Amino acid sequence: MKLRVLSVASEAVPLVKTGGLADVVGALPDALAPHGVAMTVMVPGYPAVLKAIGKARAIHAWPSLLGEPARLLAARLGEHALLVLDAPGYFARGGGPYGDSAGHDWADNWRRFAAFGRAAADLAGGAVKGKRFDVLHAHDWQAAMAIAYTRFAPPPQAAPLPSVMTIHNMAFQGNFGPETFPALGLPDAAWSIHGVEYHGGVSFLKAGMEAASMITTVSPTYAAEIRDAQFGMGLEGLILSRGDRVRGIVNGIDTAQWNPETDPALATTFGLRKLDRRIRNKRALEAEFALEPDEGPLFIVISRLAWQKGMDVLLEAVDHLVGIGGRLAVLGSGDAALEAGFHAAAARHPGRVSVRTGYDEALSHRMQGGGDAILVPSRFEPCGLTQLYGLAYGCVPVVARTGGLADTVIDANLAALQAGVATGIQFDGVSASALCAALSRAVALYHRPEQWRAIQRNGMKADFSWNRSGKAYADLYAQLVTETP
Ligand code: ADP
Repeated sequence: MKLRVLSVASEAVPLVKTGGLADVVGALPDALAPHGVAMTVMVPGYPAVLKAIGKARAIHAWPSLLGEPARLLAARLGEHALLVLDAPGYFARGGGPYGDSAGHDWADNWRRFAAFGRAAADLAGGAVKGKRFDVLHAHDWQAAMAIAYTRFAPPPQAAPLPSVMTIHNMAFQGNFGPETFPALGLPDAAWSIHGVEYHGGVSFLKAGMEAASMITTVSPTYAAEIRDAQFGMGLEGLILSRGDRVRGIVNGIDTAQWNPETDPALATTFGLRKLDRRIRNKRALEAEFALEPDEGPLFIVISRLAWQKGMDVLLEAVDHLVGIGGRLAVLGSGDAALEAGFHAAAARHPGRVSVRTGYDEALSHRMQGGGDAILVPSRFEPCGLTQLYGLAYGCVPVVARTGGLADTVIDANLAALQAGVATGIQFDGVSASALCAALSRAVALYHRPEQWRAIQRNGMKADFSWNRSGKAYADLYAQLVTETP
């Protein structure tokens, strides 16, 4: 019989996305189906989600879910089951999933996502007629309370249920003041260092990590890094105390969405055998970004504009990038000061540096298909997806050696070049000088076309589909079910 897994998250492609979390949650059901897992995804009913699912049947109702009425709607996500928590008091708002259009977090995020977790725990614990699950899988702090409620306040008659807490980014923890605790509807026992309490307040992520049967994060290197204060963001002690209950499973990419041979967003599709055609995408991209066409490399960035992503360091390196004959096309949104910094760099280097602010999925595909190299100078990177898309599209990744970037890119050092396995460029320590040196290496390699082609081909041949990681999650679920009494 198939294992039934409830995957709970605040985002899922193609319904709602602010980052890599959505790509992963949206891809997991397909990735797991060949391994005997039937995955149901549960997301909040934001306006865009309700619009996307159209008319849907309500299979359960809560007269008051932490204070607001709510319904559970049954829909489909491709070939898989999708459940949507329709709670207008929490989710029927403009702006983004977590804040208003000016980027300010909603003040009641704690209640919105506690309610989401409460509903998921009821569902996982068998309180919704006709729905039974073998494993509860929660992603990030917005879903973490599902695991905490399952542990501390399960619905009546619920059987023990194994759970997986996946951390997509330790920097986002869902920490709130102690005044929120009484409204969460948890027993007093949950107010402890082994429950939701964290430095005198409440931490949703920490609560999920304490209560979960297993913690995973999205690359083996990040799983090791978060044992250390520099990356653990205060939760390194908890990670250490969970010992071998912490695993790293690297993300895959959805090869139906990200395949240069079939991608409808590209001016020209291409593949390993038709790599020459790629130049047409480069020319189209130059025109789209109003960059001077020339024979030098075109660097791209597709990123949240945030300190984590090392974008301030890239700004320091822009003049060097242009000075050595590179051009730069940036697509990003986020920090206003960084946006202004990139606009200033573009004004300083017309025809050489160009910036698009905002979020544009199709443009991100055209950039991967036409850029020569993608820059990912992150200070920390749990997995990172843009370097994986770059590998698949022959857009050579230039990355900081951290987290998933360290695990997925093979640096073009002499040994790797000679062995024919290099897929990109890595550099140590996110500083302007390290990034400038990496850019210089990239430009030098680019001007040796045979070597550059070999690096592109190696990346395109590498398998970052979900095959391997889908099996790793399936094995994990099977282990947990066997362990559970
Ligand atoms: P994170 O989740 O930390 O933002 P990831 O690399 O894991 O970083 O995932 C980012 C995802 O969001 C990728 O799919 C990337 O292509 C996409 N993305 C980021 N910024 C933009 C943007 N401005 N427009 C379109 N897609 C973007």
